[in-house]
Amino acid sequence: MQKTISLKLLPSEAANETLVKKYLAKAEAVKESAISGYFIVKQSIDARSRQPWINLSLHTFINEPFHKRKNMSFQFKDVNQASERVIIIGAGPAGLFAALRLIESGIQPVILERGKDVRARRRDLAILNKEGEVNPESNYCFGEGGAGTYSDGKLYTRSSKRGDISRILNLFVHFGAEEQILYEAHPHIGTNKLPHIITAMRKQIVDCGGKFLFEKKVTDFIIHNNEMKGVRTADGNTFEADSVILATGHSARDVFELLHTKKILIEAKPFALGVRVEHPQSLIDSAQYHCEIRGDFLPPASYSWVQQVEGKGVFSFCMCPGGIIAPAATSPGELVVNGWSPSKRNNPYANSGIVVTVEEKDAIKAIKTNQLTLNNTDSPLLLMEFQRSVEQKAFNAGGGKFVAPAQRLVDFTENKVSATLPNCSYLPGLHSFSLKEVLPGFIHQCLQQAFKDYGKKMKGYLTNEAVVVATESRTSSPVRIPRDATTLQHPQIKNLYPCGEGAGYAGGIVSAAMDGERVAALISLTLK
Ligand SMILES: Cc1cc2nc3c(=O)[nH]c(=O)nc-3n(C[C@H](O)[C@H](O)[C@H](O)COP(=O)(O)OP(=O)(O)OC[C@H]3O[C@@H](n4cnc5c(N)ncnc54)[C@H](O)[C@@H]3O)c2cc1C
Repeated sequence: MQKTISLKLLPSEAANETLVKKYLAKAEAVKESAISGYFIVKQSIDARSRQPWINLSLHTFINEPFHKRKNMSFQFKDVNQASERVIIIGAGPAGLFAALRLIESGIQPVILERGKDVRARRRDLAILNKEGEVNPESNYCFGEGGAGTYSDGKLYTRSSKRGDISRILNLFVHFGAEEQILYEAHPHIGTNKLPHIITAMRKQIVDCGGKFLFEKKVTDFIIHNNEMKGVRTADGNTFEADSVILATGHSARDVFELLHTKKILIEAKPFALGVRVEHPQSLIDSAQYHCEIRGDFLPPASYSWVQQVEGKGVFSFCMCPGGIIAPAATSPGELVVNGWSPSKRNNPYANSGIVVTVEEKDAIKAIKTNQLTLNNTDSPLLLMEFQRSVEQKAFNAGGGKFVAPAQRLVDFTENKVSATLPNCSYLPGLHSFSLKEVLPGFIHQCLQQAFKDYGKKMKGYLTNEAVVVATESRTSSPVRIPRDATTLQHPQIKNLYPCGEGAGYAGGIVSAAMDGERVAALISLTLK
Protein backbone atom coordinates (compact mmCIF):
# COMPACT_ATOMS: atom_id res chain seq x y z
CA MET A 1 0.00 0.00 0.00
CA GLN A 2 1.13 3.56 -0.69
CA LYS A 3 -0.14 6.41 1.39
CA THR A 4 0.68 10.08 2.03
CA ILE A 5 1.07 10.64 5.76
CA SER A 6 1.54 13.93 7.61
CA LEU A 7 3.89 14.17 10.59
CA LYS A 8 4.85 17.05 12.87
CA LEU A 9 8.31 16.39 14.29
CA LEU A 10 11.10 18.10 16.18
CA PRO A 11 13.88 19.29 13.83
CA SER A 12 16.28 16.62 15.15
CA GLU A 13 13.64 13.90 14.65
CA ALA A 14 12.83 15.00 11.10
CA ALA A 15 16.51 14.62 10.16
CA ASN A 16 16.63 11.03 11.44
CA GLU A 17 15.31 8.51 8.88
CA THR A 18 15.02 5.66 11.40
CA LEU A 19 12.94 7.80 13.73
CA VAL A 20 10.76 9.02 10.87
CA LYS A 21 10.01 5.40 9.90
CA LYS A 22 9.18 4.66 13.52
CA TYR A 23 6.67 7.53 13.62
CA LEU A 24 5.18 6.44 10.29
CA ALA A 25 4.68 2.93 11.63
CA LYS A 26 3.09 4.35 14.75
CA ALA A 27 0.76 6.57 12.70
CA GLU A 28 -0.40 3.55 10.67
CA ALA A 29 -0.41 1.11 13.59
CA VAL A 30 1.91 -1.28 11.75
CA LYS A 31 5.27 -2.82 12.60
CA GLU A 32 8.34 -0.70 11.73
CA SER A 33 9.47 -3.41 9.32
CA ALA A 34 6.26 -2.82 7.30
CA ILE A 35 7.53 0.64 6.26
CA SER A 36 9.82 -0.12 3.32
CA GLY A 37 10.55 3.55 2.62
CA TYR A 38 9.20 7.03 1.98
CA PHE A 39 9.91 10.20 0.12
CA ILE A 40 9.03 13.75 1.10
CA VAL A 41 6.15 15.44 -0.70
CA LYS A 42 6.16 18.67 1.31
CA GLN A 43 8.32 20.07 4.08
CA SER A 44 7.92 23.28 6.02
CA ILE A 45 9.02 24.83 9.30
CA ASP A 46 6.49 26.04 11.83
CA ALA A 47 8.33 28.43 14.15
CA ARG A 48 5.30 30.21 15.59
CA SER A 49 5.57 28.64 19.03
CA ARG A 50 8.67 28.60 21.27
CA GLN A 51 9.50 25.13 19.98
CA PRO A 52 9.95 25.08 16.18
CA TRP A 53 8.41 22.07 14.44
CA ILE A 54 8.95 20.48 11.06
CA ASN A 55 5.78 19.63 9.15
CA LEU A 56 6.27 16.73 6.78
CA SER A 57 4.04 15.18 4.18
CA LEU A 58 5.49 11.77 3.34
CA HIS A 59 4.64 9.42 0.50
CA THR A 60 4.99 6.13 2.33
CA PHE A 61 5.34 2.54 1.10
CA ILE A 62 3.73 0.06 3.49
CA ASN A 63 4.13 -3.68 2.99
CA GLU A 64 5.30 -3.18 -0.57
CA PRO A 65 8.66 -2.40 -2.19
CA PHE A 66 9.85 1.19 -2.06
CA HIS A 67 10.21 3.20 -5.29
CA LYS A 68 12.05 6.48 -5.56
CA ARG A 69 10.13 9.62 -6.52
CA LYS A 70 9.35 9.74 -10.25
CA ASN A 71 10.44 13.14 -11.49
CA MET A 72 9.13 14.67 -14.69
CA SER A 73 10.97 13.75 -17.86
CA PHE A 74 11.51 15.99 -20.86
CA GLN A 75 11.88 15.33 -24.60
CA PHE A 76 14.29 17.73 -26.22
CA LYS A 77 14.25 17.40 -30.01
CA ASP A 78 17.01 17.73 -32.59
CA VAL A 79 16.39 21.17 -34.09
CA ASN A 80 19.45 21.33 -36.37
CA GLN A 81 17.27 21.05 -39.47
CA ALA A 82 14.24 22.88 -38.06
CA SER A 83 12.50 25.07 -40.61
CA GLU A 84 11.45 27.61 -37.97
CA ARG A 85 13.83 29.69 -35.89
CA VAL A 86 13.13 32.16 -33.14
CA ILE A 87 15.54 34.78 -31.86
CA ILE A 88 15.67 35.13 -28.10
CA ILE A 89 17.34 38.29 -26.83
CA GLY A 90 18.72 37.63 -23.36
CA ALA A 91 19.84 34.42 -21.62
CA GLY A 92 18.18 35.03 -18.26
CA PRO A 93 15.61 32.58 -16.86
CA ALA A 94 12.95 33.88 -19.29
CA GLY A 95 15.20 33.41 -22.33
CA LEU A 96 16.63 30.04 -21.24
CA PHE A 97 13.28 28.45 -20.40
CA ALA A 98 11.80 29.85 -23.61
CA ALA A 99 14.65 28.21 -25.56
CA LEU A 100 14.13 24.83 -23.89
CA ARG A 101 10.39 24.99 -24.53
CA LEU A 102 10.96 25.84 -28.22
CA ILE A 103 13.29 22.86 -28.57
CA GLU A 104 10.64 20.59 -27.06
CA SER A 105 8.40 21.82 -29.91
CA GLY A 106 11.04 21.27 -32.59
CA ILE A 107 11.83 24.95 -33.17
CA GLN A 108 15.39 26.27 -33.29
CA PRO A 109 16.16 29.01 -30.75
CA VAL A 110 18.94 31.50 -31.42
CA ILE A 111 19.94 33.12 -28.12
CA LEU A 112 21.74 36.44 -28.35
CA GLU A 113 23.29 37.42 -25.03
CA ARG A 114 25.21 40.66 -24.48
CA GLY A 115 27.26 39.20 -21.63
CA LYS A 116 29.70 36.34 -21.23
CA ASP A 117 29.40 32.69 -20.18
CA VAL A 118 29.19 31.97 -16.46
CA ARG A 119 32.90 31.27 -16.05
CA ALA A 120 34.16 34.42 -17.79
CA ARG A 121 31.47 36.39 -16.04
CA ARG A 122 32.78 35.32 -12.64
CA ARG A 123 36.10 37.05 -13.38
CA ASP A 124 34.27 40.32 -14.07
CA LEU A 125 32.40 39.99 -10.78
CA ALA A 126 35.70 39.52 -8.94
CA ILE A 127 37.06 42.74 -10.52
CA LEU A 128 33.86 44.56 -9.55
CA ASN A 129 34.07 43.39 -5.94
CA LYS A 130 37.82 43.85 -5.50
CA GLU A 131 38.68 46.80 -7.69
CA GLY A 132 35.36 48.64 -7.88
CA GLU A 133 35.15 48.58 -11.67
CA VAL A 134 32.01 47.47 -13.47
CA ASN A 135 31.93 45.96 -16.95
CA PRO A 136 28.68 47.33 -18.46
CA GLU A 137 28.19 44.09 -20.44
CA SER A 138 29.17 41.56 -17.77
CA ASN A 139 28.07 42.01 -14.17
CA TYR A 140 25.53 40.74 -11.60
CA CYS A 141 22.67 41.44 -14.03
CA PHE A 142 24.18 40.77 -17.47
CA GLY A 143 25.64 37.50 -18.73
CA GLU A 144 24.71 33.84 -19.04
CA GLY A 145 21.76 32.98 -16.79
CA GLY A 146 20.88 36.66 -16.40
CA ALA A 147 20.34 38.28 -13.03
CA GLY A 148 19.47 34.91 -11.48
CA THR A 149 22.88 33.25 -11.88
CA TYR A 150 24.79 34.80 -8.99
CA SER A 151 21.78 35.07 -6.72
CA ASP A 152 20.35 33.29 -3.72
CA GLY A 153 18.34 31.25 -6.19
CA LYS A 154 15.12 31.47 -4.20
CA LEU A 155 12.56 29.55 -6.19
CA TYR A 156 9.25 30.59 -4.75
CA THR A 157 6.69 32.77 -6.37
CA ARG A 158 3.19 34.01 -5.75
CA SER A 159 2.43 33.81 -9.48
CA SER A 160 1.07 30.26 -9.35
CA LYS A 161 -1.64 31.12 -11.89
CA ARG A 162 0.87 32.20 -14.54
CA GLY A 163 2.27 28.77 -15.30
CA ASP A 164 3.37 25.39 -14.06
CA ILE A 165 5.74 25.99 -11.13
CA SER A 166 6.31 22.28 -10.70
CA ARG A 167 7.54 21.99 -14.32
CA ILE A 168 10.06 24.78 -13.71
CA LEU A 169 11.34 23.15 -10.52
CA ASN A 170 11.55 19.76 -12.26
CA LEU A 171 13.54 21.33 -15.08
CA PHE A 172 15.97 22.75 -12.52
CA VAL A 173 16.32 19.26 -11.01
CA HIS A 174 16.74 17.75 -14.50
CA PHE A 175 19.71 20.10 -15.01
CA GLY A 176 21.33 19.32 -11.66
CA ALA A 177 19.51 21.04 -8.78
CA GLU A 178 18.94 19.05 -5.57
CA GLU A 179 15.61 17.20 -5.36
CA GLN A 180 14.73 19.00 -2.15
CA ILE A 181 13.64 22.05 -4.18
CA LEU A 182 10.65 19.92 -5.22
CA TYR A 183 9.26 19.64 -1.71
CA GLU A 184 10.61 22.46 0.47
CA ALA A 185 8.16 25.26 1.22
CA HIS A 186 10.85 27.86 0.46
CA PRO A 187 13.28 26.22 -1.95
CA HIS A 188 16.53 27.86 -2.98
CA ILE A 189 19.57 26.74 -4.95
CA GLY A 190 22.49 29.03 -4.05
CA THR A 191 25.13 30.94 -6.02
CA ASN A 192 27.68 28.11 -5.91
CA LYS A 193 25.31 25.68 -7.67
CA LEU A 194 23.41 27.88 -10.11
CA PRO A 195 26.25 28.36 -12.64
CA HIS A 196 26.57 24.56 -13.13
CA ILE A 197 22.84 24.26 -13.72
CA ILE A 198 22.84 27.13 -16.19
CA THR A 199 25.81 25.59 -18.02
CA ALA A 200 23.94 22.27 -18.27
CA MET A 201 20.94 24.08 -19.77
CA ARG A 202 23.17 25.75 -22.35
CA LYS A 203 24.77 22.40 -23.21
CA GLN A 204 21.33 20.88 -23.79
CA ILE A 205 20.28 23.78 -26.02
CA VAL A 206 23.49 23.61 -28.08
CA ASP A 207 23.50 19.78 -28.26
CA CYS A 208 19.99 19.90 -29.73
CA GLY A 209 21.05 22.37 -32.41
CA GLY A 210 20.02 25.64 -30.78
CA LYS A 211 22.41 28.57 -31.13
CA PHE A 212 23.81 30.26 -28.04
CA LEU A 213 25.87 33.35 -28.84
CA PHE A 214 27.68 35.45 -26.23
CA GLU A 215 28.83 39.06 -26.43
CA LYS A 216 26.05 39.75 -28.90
CA LYS A 217 24.39 42.91 -27.70
CA VAL A 218 21.26 43.69 -29.68
CA THR A 219 21.32 47.35 -30.63
CA ASP A 220 18.60 47.58 -33.28
CA PHE A 221 15.46 45.86 -34.50
CA ILE A 222 14.75 45.14 -38.17
CA ILE A 223 11.09 45.98 -38.75
CA HIS A 224 9.19 45.99 -42.06
CA ASN A 225 5.56 47.07 -42.23
CA ASN A 226 5.25 46.83 -38.45
CA GLU A 227 6.48 43.25 -38.52
CA MET A 228 9.61 42.06 -36.73
CA LYS A 229 12.11 40.54 -39.17
CA GLY A 230 15.28 40.34 -37.11
CA VAL A 231 17.85 42.25 -35.10
CA ARG A 232 21.26 43.90 -35.41
CA THR A 233 24.00 43.47 -32.85
CA ALA A 234 26.69 45.89 -31.68
CA ASP A 235 29.37 44.05 -33.67
CA GLY A 236 27.53 44.82 -36.93
CA ASN A 237 25.89 41.41 -37.47
CA THR A 238 22.32 40.89 -38.59
CA PHE A 239 20.10 37.99 -37.47
CA GLU A 240 16.85 37.20 -39.25
CA ALA A 241 14.04 35.14 -37.72
CA ASP A 242 10.32 34.37 -37.79
CA SER A 243 9.79 35.76 -34.30
CA VAL A 244 11.76 37.65 -31.66
CA ILE A 245 11.42 37.10 -27.92
CA LEU A 246 12.61 40.19 -26.06
CA ALA A 247 13.76 38.95 -22.63
CA THR A 248 16.39 41.50 -21.71
CA GLY A 249 15.60 41.97 -18.00
CA HIS A 250 14.91 45.03 -15.88
CA SER A 251 18.39 46.54 -16.21
CA ALA A 252 18.66 46.84 -20.01
CA ARG A 253 18.03 50.57 -20.06
CA ASP A 254 19.47 50.85 -23.55
CA VAL A 255 16.74 48.48 -24.80
CA PHE A 256 14.01 50.65 -23.25
CA GLU A 257 15.67 53.71 -24.81
CA LEU A 258 15.89 51.98 -28.20
CA LEU A 259 12.20 51.08 -28.12
CA HIS A 260 11.28 54.62 -27.15
CA THR A 261 13.49 56.16 -29.84
CA LYS A 262 11.92 53.90 -32.46
CA LYS A 263 8.48 54.99 -31.21
CA ILE A 264 7.60 51.44 -30.17
CA LEU A 265 5.10 51.76 -27.34
CA ILE A 266 6.40 51.35 -23.77
CA GLU A 267 4.85 52.49 -20.48
CA ALA A 268 6.14 53.64 -17.11
CA LYS A 269 5.54 50.88 -14.54
CA PRO A 270 5.46 51.24 -10.75
CA PHE A 271 8.44 49.59 -9.08
CA ALA A 272 10.04 49.72 -5.63
CA LEU A 273 13.18 51.35 -4.27
CA GLY A 274 14.87 51.47 -0.89
CA VAL A 275 17.83 49.99 0.95
CA ARG A 276 19.34 46.68 1.95
CA VAL A 277 19.59 45.97 5.68
CA GLU A 278 22.05 43.49 7.13
CA HIS A 279 21.84 41.87 10.59
CA PRO A 280 23.99 39.24 12.24
CA GLN A 281 22.37 35.93 11.20
CA SER A 282 22.48 34.75 14.82
CA LEU A 283 20.20 37.64 15.82
CA ILE A 284 17.59 36.70 13.21
CA ASP A 285 17.87 33.02 14.20
CA SER A 286 17.29 33.84 17.89
CA ALA A 287 14.31 36.02 17.10
CA GLN A 288 12.65 33.62 14.66
CA TYR A 289 13.40 30.35 16.45
CA HIS A 290 13.06 31.73 20.01
CA CYS A 291 16.40 30.34 21.10
CA GLU A 292 19.96 31.37 22.00
CA ILE A 293 21.59 29.25 19.31
CA ARG A 294 19.92 27.77 16.22
CA GLY A 295 21.51 24.32 16.45
CA ASP A 296 22.28 21.85 13.67
CA PHE A 297 18.80 20.87 12.53
CA LEU A 298 17.25 24.15 11.48
CA PRO A 299 18.33 26.24 8.47
CA PRO A 300 19.43 29.87 8.93
CA ALA A 301 16.21 31.77 9.62
CA SER A 302 14.62 34.23 7.23
CA TYR A 303 11.93 36.86 7.55
CA SER A 304 9.48 38.63 5.33
CA TRP A 305 7.27 41.61 6.08
CA VAL A 306 4.91 44.12 4.56
CA GLN A 307 3.83 47.40 6.17
CA GLN A 308 1.61 50.24 5.07
CA VAL A 309 3.09 53.65 5.86
CA GLU A 310 1.15 56.75 4.86
CA GLY A 311 -0.68 54.78 2.21
CA LYS A 312 2.50 53.37 0.67
CA GLY A 313 3.57 49.75 0.66
CA VAL A 314 6.91 49.08 2.36
CA PHE A 315 8.13 45.51 2.12
CA SER A 316 11.07 43.20 2.53
CA PHE A 317 12.45 41.92 -0.74
CA CYS A 318 14.76 39.05 -1.67
CA MET A 319 15.85 38.21 1.88
CA CYS A 320 19.12 36.25 1.90
CA PRO A 321 19.84 34.31 5.10
CA GLY A 322 23.55 33.56 5.49
CA GLY A 323 24.13 35.82 2.53
CA ILE A 324 26.29 38.52 1.02
CA ILE A 325 25.34 41.99 -0.19
CA ALA A 326 26.42 42.36 -3.81
CA PRO A 327 27.19 45.39 -6.00
CA ALA A 328 24.56 44.90 -8.72
CA ALA A 329 25.08 48.03 -10.84
CA THR A 330 25.32 47.74 -14.60
CA SER A 331 27.00 51.08 -15.35
CA PRO A 332 29.81 53.15 -13.88
CA GLY A 333 28.70 55.94 -11.57
CA GLU A 334 25.53 54.16 -10.34
CA LEU A 335 25.30 52.24 -7.09
CA VAL A 336 22.87 49.34 -6.77
CA VAL A 337 22.88 46.64 -4.10
CA ASN A 338 21.24 43.24 -4.07
CA GLY A 339 21.90 39.99 -2.20
CA TRP A 340 22.97 36.40 -2.76
CA SER A 341 23.67 33.29 -0.67
CA PRO A 342 25.56 30.07 -1.16
CA SER A 343 23.52 26.87 -1.02
CA LYS A 344 24.38 26.31 2.66
CA ARG A 345 23.59 29.91 3.52
CA ASN A 346 26.48 29.74 5.94
CA ASN A 347 27.73 33.33 6.02
CA PRO A 348 27.36 35.12 9.36
CA TYR A 349 24.99 37.80 8.01
CA ALA A 350 21.33 38.01 7.04
CA ASN A 351 20.49 40.67 4.48
CA SER A 352 17.25 41.83 2.92
CA GLY A 353 16.05 44.56 0.63
CA ILE A 354 13.51 46.86 2.31
CA VAL A 355 11.76 48.88 -0.35
CA VAL A 356 8.95 51.35 -0.92
CA THR A 357 6.61 51.30 -3.92
CA VAL A 358 7.20 54.14 -6.37
CA GLU A 359 4.55 55.34 -8.78
CA GLU A 360 4.68 58.04 -11.45
CA LYS A 361 2.91 60.53 -9.17
CA ASP A 362 5.63 59.99 -6.52
CA ALA A 363 8.37 60.75 -9.02
CA ILE A 364 6.59 63.87 -10.25
CA LYS A 365 6.05 65.06 -6.68
CA ALA A 366 9.71 64.40 -5.81
CA ILE A 367 10.76 66.55 -8.77
CA LYS A 368 8.31 69.36 -7.91
CA THR A 369 9.52 69.47 -4.31
CA ASN A 370 13.17 69.52 -5.41
CA GLN A 371 13.94 66.10 -3.95
CA LEU A 372 15.13 65.08 -7.40
CA THR A 373 16.24 66.84 -10.57
CA LEU A 374 14.91 65.23 -13.72
CA ASN A 375 14.36 66.94 -17.03
CA ASN A 376 11.63 65.05 -18.83
CA THR A 377 8.67 64.15 -16.64
CA ASP A 378 6.35 63.38 -19.53
CA SER A 379 7.99 60.18 -20.63
CA PRO A 380 7.50 56.44 -20.18
CA LEU A 381 11.12 56.48 -19.01
CA LEU A 382 10.30 58.73 -16.04
CA LEU A 383 10.56 56.00 -13.40
CA MET A 384 13.70 54.58 -15.00
CA GLU A 385 15.29 58.04 -14.79
CA PHE A 386 14.09 58.37 -11.20
CA GLN A 387 15.74 55.02 -10.42
CA ARG A 388 18.97 56.05 -12.17
CA SER A 389 19.17 59.41 -10.41
CA VAL A 390 18.94 57.80 -6.94
CA GLU A 391 21.59 55.26 -7.93
CA GLN A 392 23.89 58.10 -9.05
CA LYS A 393 23.37 59.93 -5.76
CA ALA A 394 24.23 56.76 -3.85
CA PHE A 395 27.39 56.27 -5.93
CA ASN A 396 28.56 59.83 -5.28
CA ALA A 397 27.70 59.59 -1.57
CA GLY A 398 29.86 56.47 -1.27
CA GLY A 399 32.81 58.31 -2.77
CA GLY A 400 33.38 56.03 -5.80
CA LYS A 401 34.58 52.49 -6.55
CA PHE A 402 31.15 51.18 -5.49
CA VAL A 403 31.80 51.94 -1.83
CA ALA A 404 28.24 52.19 -0.52
CA PRO A 405 26.81 54.90 1.76
CA ALA A 406 25.49 53.31 4.96
CA GLN A 407 24.11 53.98 8.43
CA ARG A 408 23.51 51.82 11.43
CA LEU A 409 19.82 50.93 11.64
CA VAL A 410 18.83 52.87 14.78
CA ASP A 411 20.92 55.81 13.58
CA PHE A 412 19.01 55.64 10.28
CA THR A 413 15.68 55.90 12.09
CA GLU A 414 16.97 58.76 14.27
CA ASN A 415 18.72 60.75 11.50
CA LYS A 416 22.18 60.36 13.03
CA VAL A 417 25.29 59.86 10.96
CA SER A 418 26.92 56.74 12.42
CA ALA A 419 30.23 57.35 14.16
CA THR A 420 31.35 53.85 13.13
CA LEU A 421 29.86 51.09 11.00
CA PRO A 422 29.67 47.38 11.88
CA ASN A 423 31.37 44.69 9.81
CA CYS A 424 29.38 44.00 6.67
CA SER A 425 29.44 41.38 3.92
CA TYR A 426 29.52 44.00 1.15
CA LEU A 427 32.98 43.58 -0.37
CA PRO A 428 33.58 47.01 -1.98
CA GLY A 429 33.14 48.54 1.50
CA LEU A 430 30.90 51.06 3.25
CA HIS A 431 31.11 54.78 3.94
CA SER A 432 29.20 56.30 6.85
CA PHE A 433 26.76 58.80 5.38
CA SER A 434 23.31 60.24 6.07
CA LEU A 435 20.99 58.28 3.76
CA LYS A 436 18.52 61.13 4.07
CA GLU A 437 20.79 62.90 1.58
CA VAL A 438 20.58 59.98 -0.85
CA LEU A 439 16.97 58.80 -0.78
CA PRO A 440 13.97 60.85 -1.92
CA GLY A 441 12.17 62.22 1.16
CA PHE A 442 9.04 60.05 0.94
CA ILE A 443 11.11 56.88 0.64
CA HIS A 444 13.35 57.84 3.54
CA GLN A 445 10.40 58.66 5.79
CA CYS A 446 8.46 55.51 4.89
CA LEU A 447 11.52 53.37 5.59
CA GLN A 448 12.20 55.07 8.93
CA GLN A 449 8.64 54.45 10.10
CA ALA A 450 8.49 50.89 8.74
CA PHE A 451 11.73 49.92 10.51
CA LYS A 452 10.39 51.33 13.78
CA ASP A 453 7.09 49.45 13.36
CA TYR A 454 8.73 46.15 12.45
CA GLY A 455 11.18 46.62 15.33
CA LYS A 456 8.20 46.28 17.65
CA LYS A 457 7.19 42.99 16.00
CA MET A 458 10.54 41.18 15.81
CA LYS A 459 12.55 41.19 19.02
CA GLY A 460 16.01 42.66 18.50
CA TYR A 461 15.43 43.69 14.86
CA LEU A 462 15.72 47.43 15.46
CA THR A 463 19.34 47.49 16.57
CA ASN A 464 22.52 49.39 15.81
CA GLU A 465 24.19 46.03 15.20
CA ALA A 466 22.36 46.14 11.87
CA VAL A 467 23.48 48.31 8.97
CA VAL A 468 21.40 49.97 6.25
CA VAL A 469 23.06 50.16 2.83
CA ALA A 470 21.89 52.22 -0.18
CA THR A 471 20.47 51.64 -2.62
CA GLU A 472 18.21 48.71 -3.46
CA SER A 473 16.72 49.93 -6.71
CA ARG A 474 16.49 47.05 -9.20
CA THR A 475 13.56 45.25 -7.60
CA SER A 476 11.46 45.08 -10.73
CA SER A 477 11.24 46.86 -14.04
CA PRO A 478 10.33 50.57 -14.03
CA VAL A 479 9.03 50.12 -17.60
CA ARG A 480 6.41 47.85 -19.14
CA ILE A 481 6.58 46.74 -22.76
CA PRO A 482 2.94 46.13 -23.58
CA ARG A 483 1.72 42.93 -25.23
CA ASP A 484 -1.62 41.60 -26.33
CA ALA A 485 -3.14 39.35 -23.67
CA THR A 486 -4.00 36.65 -26.23
CA THR A 487 -1.23 36.73 -28.83
CA LEU A 488 1.46 37.89 -26.36
CA GLN A 489 2.79 40.08 -29.19
CA HIS A 490 3.51 43.76 -28.97
CA PRO A 491 0.34 45.65 -29.99
CA GLN A 492 2.20 47.59 -32.73
CA ILE A 493 4.86 45.15 -33.89
CA LYS A 494 3.85 41.72 -35.11
CA ASN A 495 6.11 38.83 -34.03
CA LEU A 496 7.77 40.85 -31.28
CA TYR A 497 7.17 39.03 -27.98
CA PRO A 498 8.04 41.10 -24.86
CA CYS A 499 8.87 38.59 -22.14
CA GLY A 500 10.07 38.19 -18.56
CA GLU A 501 10.89 40.70 -15.88
CA GLY A 502 12.19 43.48 -18.10
CA ALA A 503 8.95 43.64 -20.04
CA GLY A 504 7.00 43.73 -16.76
CA TYR A 505 5.53 40.21 -16.78
CA ALA A 506 7.58 38.56 -14.05
CA GLY A 507 9.34 39.26 -10.78
CA GLY A 508 11.88 36.62 -9.88
CA ILE A 509 13.47 33.52 -11.33
CA VAL A 510 10.47 31.20 -11.38
CA SER A 511 7.95 33.70 -12.72
CA ALA A 512 10.43 34.80 -15.42
CA ALA A 513 11.02 31.16 -16.38
CA MET A 514 7.25 30.55 -16.52
CA ASP A 515 6.76 33.60 -18.71
CA GLY A 516 9.51 32.39 -21.06
CA GLU A 517 7.75 29.04 -21.34
CA ARG A 518 4.39 30.67 -21.89
CA VAL A 519 5.62 32.85 -24.74
CA ALA A 520 7.53 29.95 -26.34
CA ALA A 521 4.50 27.64 -26.10
CA LEU A 522 2.34 30.22 -27.84
CA ILE A 523 4.92 30.81 -30.58
CA SER A 524 5.09 27.03 -31.10
CA LEU A 525 1.34 26.94 -31.65
CA THR A 526 1.54 29.88 -34.05
CA LEU A 527 4.42 28.51 -36.13
CA LYS A 528 3.46 24.84 -36.28
C1 LIG B 1 22.00 39.59 -7.03
C2 LIG B 1 20.61 39.16 -7.39
C3 LIG B 1 19.95 38.25 -6.60
C4 LIG B 1 18.67 37.79 -6.94
N1 LIG B 1 18.09 36.83 -6.17
C5 LIG B 1 16.94 36.27 -6.57
C6 LIG B 1 16.40 35.16 -5.89
O1 LIG B 1 16.97 34.64 -4.94
N2 LIG B 1 15.21 34.64 -6.34
C7 LIG B 1 14.54 35.19 -7.40
O2 LIG B 1 13.47 34.68 -7.76
N3 LIG B 1 15.03 36.25 -8.04
C8 LIG B 1 16.22 36.79 -7.67
N4 LIG B 1 16.74 37.85 -8.37
C9 LIG B 1 15.95 38.41 -9.47
C10 LIG B 1 16.00 37.46 -10.68
O3 LIG B 1 17.32 37.19 -10.97
C11 LIG B 1 15.28 38.08 -11.86
O4 LIG B 1 13.94 38.28 -11.47
C12 LIG B 1 15.29 37.17 -13.07
O5 LIG B 1 16.61 36.84 -13.42
C13 LIG B 1 14.61 37.85 -14.26
O6 LIG B 1 14.72 37.01 -15.37
P1 LIG B 1 14.67 37.56 -16.87
O7 LIG B 1 15.09 36.43 -17.72
O8 LIG B 1 13.38 38.20 -17.13
O9 LIG B 1 15.77 38.71 -16.96
P2 LIG B 1 17.31 38.71 -16.58
O10 LIG B 1 17.66 37.61 -15.67
O11 LIG B 1 17.63 40.10 -16.15
O12 LIG B 1 18.04 38.38 -17.96
C14 LIG B 1 18.11 39.29 -19.01
C15 LIG B 1 19.29 38.92 -19.88
O13 LIG B 1 19.25 39.74 -21.06
C16 LIG B 1 20.56 40.13 -21.40
N5 LIG B 1 20.47 41.37 -22.20
C17 LIG B 1 20.09 42.60 -21.77
N6 LIG B 1 20.12 43.47 -22.81
C18 LIG B 1 20.52 42.78 -23.90
C19 LIG B 1 20.77 43.14 -25.25
N7 LIG B 1 20.57 44.38 -25.68
N8 LIG B 1 21.21 42.18 -26.10
C20 LIG B 1 21.42 40.89 -25.67
N9 LIG B 1 21.22 40.51 -24.38
C21 LIG B 1 20.76 41.44 -23.51
C22 LIG B 1 21.23 40.35 -20.05
O14 LIG B 1 22.63 40.28 -20.17
C23 LIG B 1 20.64 39.21 -19.22
O15 LIG B 1 21.45 38.06 -19.29
C24 LIG B 1 18.02 38.32 -8.07
C25 LIG B 1 18.67 39.29 -8.86
C26 LIG B 1 19.94 39.70 -8.53
C27 LIG B 1 20.64 40.72 -9.40
